[in-house]
Amino acid sequence: MATFRQRALDEVSAHQPSRYFVEEGPVSGYFGKNVFSIDKMRGYVSQRAYDAVIAAVKYGEKLDRSVSNEIASGMKAWATEMGATHYTHLFQPLTDSTAEKHEAFISVKDGKPFERFNGSALVQQEPDASSFPNGGLRNTFEARGYSAWDPSSPVFLLDGTLCIPSVFVAYTGEALDTKVPNLKSLQALSDAAVSVASLFDDSVKSVHVNLGIEQEYFLVDESLYNARPDLVLCNRTVIGHTSAKDQQLEDHYFGAIPSKVSAFMKDFETEAYKLGILLQTRHNEVAPNQFECAPVFCDAITAIDQNMMLMILMQKVAEKHHLKVIFHEKPFDGVNGSGKHCNWSIVTNTGVNLLSPGKTPDKNLQFLSFYAAVVKAVYDHHYLLMTSVASLSNSYRLGGNEAPPAVMSVFSGSTLYNIFESIIKMQNLREEKKDLESIKIVNSVPEILPDNTDRNRTSPFAFTGNRFEFRAVGSSVNVGSAVYVLNSVVAESLLNFRRRVDELLAAGEEFSNAVMTVIREFIISSQDILFEGNGYSKEWEAEAEKRGLRAVRNVPDAYEVYHEKATVDLFSRLGVLAPNEVEARYEILNETYVKKLQIEARVIGDICLNHVIPASIRYQNLLIENVRGMKEIFGNGYEDLCAAEISTLRKISVFINRLSKDVEGLVEARKKANAIQDIAARAKIYSVDVKNMMDKVRESADQLEMLVDDEMWPLPKYRELLFL
Ligand code: ADP
Ligand code: MG
Repeated sequence: MATFRQRALDEVSAHQPSRYFVEEGPVSGYFGKNVFSIDKMRGYVSQRAYDAVIAAVKYGEKLDRSVSNEIASGMKAWATEMGATHYTHLFQPLTDSTAEKHEAFISVKDGKPFERFNGSALVQQEPDASSFPNGGLRNTFEARGYSAWDPSSPVFLLDGTLCIPSVFVAYTGEALDTKVPNLKSLQALSDAAVSVASLFDDSVKSVHVNLGIEQEYFLVDESLYNARPDLVLCNRTVIGHTSAKDQQLEDHYFGAIPSKVSAFMKDFETEAYKLGILLQTRHNEVAPNQFECAPVFCDAITAIDQNMMLMILMQKVAEKHHLKVIFHEKPFDGVNGSGKHCNWSIVTNTGVNLLSPGKTPDKNLQFLSFYAAVVKAVYDHHYLLMTSVASLSNSYRLGGNEAPPAVMSVFSGSTLYNIFESIIKMQNLREEKKDLESIKIVNSVPEILPDNTDRNRTSPFAFTGNRFEFRAVGSSVNVGSAVYVLNSVVAESLLNFRRRVDELLAAGEEFSNAVMTVIREFIISSQDILFEGNGYSKEWEAEAEKRGLRAVRNVPDAYEVYHEKATVDLFSRLGVLAPNEVEARYEILNETYVKKLQIEARVIGDICLNHVIPASIRYQNLLIENVRGMKEIFGNGYEDLCAAEISTLRKISVFINRLSKDVEGLVEARKKANAIQDIAARAKIYSVDVKNMMDKVRESADQLEMLVDDEMWPLPKYRELLFL
């Protein structure tokens, strides 16, 4: 009887590369075709309605009922022309995915069918929200939450459905999604950045964030994927012995893209272009079957929306190619995990990138102000920032020896680092020679040109010439949950920066001296976060501890940062999250952690009982039969002849026993943890006791994989998942 694995392996060879979405002509001809952009809207609505949308996008003004009906009918006209039959509000609940509930346009009145979609359906929907996590903000019996179109994100078509990017809030107004705090943090950051930028240029009226999100992922053949219950249910392998060859030859990185994969890439790129997603790079990543794509950066909200759309799109397109996309941070032990690098910069309404070093001393002063404020922000809230990317799945990756460490640091590159050193060493500005000194330092760096090749890939937060790259963010998440934290901490730091400059100015300090003094104070007080060396090394771990930097060693422990006063105050002062919203997030994070680990623990138990142990027993029986036969033929002395079989038999028996015992232990550990009422306390027990038992179980299972006859092993092996 063929195993599930053997059948899957046969199917793999039948999956041939081919293209499904081919568009004629250059990309510019169909770019954005599936997006109802503001420009397109012009052809479908009156000037009044059009102006109202512009006001909503630009100044956050509310759309009133009369125009929203008109806009909805314009959208419907465009969507149905394009063949759409349904519409859906698409929002970003606190589960890290997107949520959608499709409604048909079709309706009947007086026996006549017609397409219906009015302003109220556009502006507000009441999904049965009770099943989305809300951290106690909304009792299930009320089940009232609503989603509302966020006009700053255009509607678009996906699979014949008009998708309406929305925010998701409780009826009482609290945010139940990732987008609302993001929008608020962007506003807070804009206000704070304007307060500092206007010291240098009073024409700066607003500041926005640009994000370029690199997406790493694995591809696995669909048949092999389906033959692995752990991939299907947990998106990662909970057992599996590492392959004899994995990434040690480094032959995959930037290697030729296999033709099956490139057909898939071209297809999802074509579809992404139609959605206005400007994908620019694609390449192999370090691990076998690991790849990356990156769009050109754009404003933060669009970048985040597009990344979420891209993930949906990639899954859909992959189906046509008999492939599965794995966004999990660590689907395979022993090879690199995946991240989602967030390239983050802040730009003024006048088009100046505030993180781009200038050519003149005064521009450099502005650049150094912003740089110092970011560094101080990251230092002050390093634990919160690291926690903003902490999740069960990312915990399998972070702190491993090929992923960003679990402790925050900032890499600046040698040019900037040297400048900071000289700023730190600079004589106290309060001393007599103050003017001379400050002018010297300002003038001695007329042009800061950090070397773009001066990269440090081991830093979780690296400056790369004109932006910071937050590299610790996980590949499966909505980056919004890390970005609003980053925006918030920087906003707070910029406000402090401005306040301190004002103090010095009020005390009669000359302007550039005042600014330079604050830059220096900021850098001195946060220099412990600056680190230029190898972030993956053991030495850094020890050094970071010596510097008092807090590492995220255990995820539920890290979540306690949401109970710290500095965190709660930060978000409420800036108006990003009220204390009860922070508390809700804390609960949801713990709940999600427990649920995911619970599923993993069940799956590993089931796989061991239903796949590993039965296959091992089958092989054990084969060996027993063999030994018995040998005894029959050779009589005394058979033991010498069967030494190898007997030794294997012994090992198999030992591991089968150990495995069943440990699976029982795992069930016990789960039961004990589940009995704990408090969700945070339960998460902590899960993170230690249940996880440790899972490690033990995996050890025996992986040993058995190496002992059992390959033909009898029921689960696709690493070498097949990673190399086919
Ligand atoms: P690497 O893999 O070397 O880090 P990539 O080229 O894959 O770099 O990705 C870099 C990302 O950074 C792209 O999405 C790019 O558009 C984005 N990016 C470039 N400049 C900026 C900027 N000023 N602000 C934000 N993102 C940027
Ligand atoms: Mg990168």
